[in-house]
Amino acid sequence: MTIAPVPSTPETVTIGVLALQGAFIEHIHYLQRLRPVGHAIRAIPVRSEEELKQCDALVLPGGESTVIHSVALRSGLLSSLVEFVQDPSKPVYGTCAGMILMAAEDGIGGGKIIKGRPPAVGWGGIDGLKVWRNLYGNQLESFEAHMVIPSLPNPSKPFNAIFIRAPAIHSLPQHPKTPIEVLATLPQECVPTPPPADTPMGPANPDDLGKIMVRQGRKLVTSFHPELSGDVRIHEYWVDKCVLGR
Ligand code: GLN
Repeated sequence: MTIAPVPSTPETVTIGVLALQGAFIEHIHYLQRLRPVGHAIRAIPVRSEEELKQCDALVLPGGESTVIHSVALRSGLLSSLVEFVQDPSKPVYGTCAGMILMAAEDGIGGGKIIKGRPPAVGWGGIDGLKVWRNLYGNQLESFEAHMVIPSLPNPSKPFNAIFIRAPAIHSLPQHPKTPIEVLATLPQECVPTPPPADTPMGPANPDDLGKIMVRQGRKLVTSFHPELSGDVRIHEYWVDKCVLGR
């Protein structure tokens, strides 16, 4: 699909969804459903530098982080993506595999290393974020958690958070430069067992393992898939707070 470059105006906000692999189309549909007061959202798939340049904000979807990373590397898009993700002025939302990619450079543990495929290296975005891939189990162990998330519009209505081979937060930095806000934490009985401590990542912080939605400035990550829930409130929250800053 070729998309003519349309410069963003204060009324039109262009939000890209990285479309190299994974559940990107659903994010585009959810963003297209939003009607923020005073703005029009233009949601576009991003597969090239030209498309990335048009974006005011970016979503990194769920899928397979190693595949997204290697396709970005092979297609020559990786360095521009890393630059975009690390720029504190750029709003970025990472879901599941997208959250893994927003970890610190050396902040990805767990999962299988597949021969011939480079292991994913964190692109940054959330300072010092360390994640552990697949800590919530395999595909068959996918689950849903009905979460009350106080920051969302209509907060008393539980949000159906869907976990599919989801990563867990291994640890967050103790003293981040910009405060990290924890927006949702799983009840204790759903918190996964800590990963092995004798790896270069060191031991996980047990207090961080159940955190499933965190924000730092214009960046948001969730270890679950909101774009499969039928509920647009997390996209609405990110667009309002992180993209439009209100
Ligand atoms: N397990 C996947 C990974 O390591 C993420 C799964 C997902 O995005 N649903 O990339």
